Amino acid sequence: MNTVSFRCTACGKCCNSPPLMSLPELFRHEGLFVGALAIRRAVSGAREMSVHTQAFDYTSLNRCPALGEDQRCSIHDRGKPAVCAVVPFDAEVPDGLQHAVLLNRNRSESYIGANCIVAGESTDHDVVVRDGRLVDNGYIDALARRREAARLDRHYWGGALLELLRRELSASNAVPAKGYLTLPLVPVLQIVAGVSTHCRIRCLAYIDSQIVLIDRMLVAALQRKNSRDRDATRELRSFNSTYARLRKQLERCAADSFTEIVDRERQRDFEAYLELDAGVAGSAESQESAAA
Ligand code: SF4
Ligand code: SF4
Repeated sequence: MNTVSFRCTACGKCCNSPPLMSLPELFRHEGLFVGALAIRRAVSGAREMSVHTQAFDYTSLNRCPALGEDQRCSIHDRGKPAVCAVVPFDAEVPDGLQHAVLLNRNRSESYIGANCIVAGESTDHDVVVRDGRLVDNGYIDALARRREAARLDRHYWGGALLELLRRELSASNAVPAKGYLTLPLVPVLQIVAGVSTHCRIRCLAYIDSQIVLIDRMLVAALQRKNSRDRDATRELRSFNSTYARLRKQLERCAADSFTEIVDRERQRDFEAYLELDAGVAGSAESQESAAA
């Protein structure tokens, strides 16, 4: 059965964890999501690694930080992550296997009871995969956008970071054989800050937003008094001390000390990728959050 139908009622059931996000998306929503770098071995136990950025939160909360009390996505119309626009598909899986992705999700805890995915055709749902082929143009476009966002991340900093990691981490046990090593975005920000003065100033604004957000999350965790939060609290404290150190390091850099590293055209490309035209001093969201 390679035909699958789908209809989202926006019940919010699958918004039970912070999503994968590209670096520009994390910058865009810096006052809402804590950004993290996830490093894993490409194949379990192998030396080769892969990296991506994602949002990080307390798993005990069992919800995405953008999910409103009404179970709706609070950023649906304000640059929702591209990975959320492809739900319930998976942009990392080839198109020819998406029917299997959907049917697997239908059996997973996050979707049970939502009745949004149906094998075959249904009068209440729209066919999204017919005979193994994607037929919904909206999802075809959304998958292309998410894959492009991932490609840009690899292009602008992922490749350089993997080179660094190969030298520093491949022989160590820091990256587990299975699962992820989660780090603050520091190594990514170091690459970004080295591109141009504009990028460095944006990184400083991002760090400030993240420190404020993490402090707020730590206070909320103290009030919750949930023993399951201890590991995440330790990680978030370490995020903040690492960000404070990086902040000092970036402040010490002369304003134009990076401009010889890459040519002006590449600087402009990089700044456009980061959506820096939207405002170097940080997003409106972060300013609102800092003022809160
Ligand atoms: S569980 Fe299904 S219906 Fe509910 S928000 Fe997710 S995709 Fe939509
Ligand atoms: S960003 Fe919105 S759509 Fe994505 S997981 Fe969070 S609440 Fe759900």
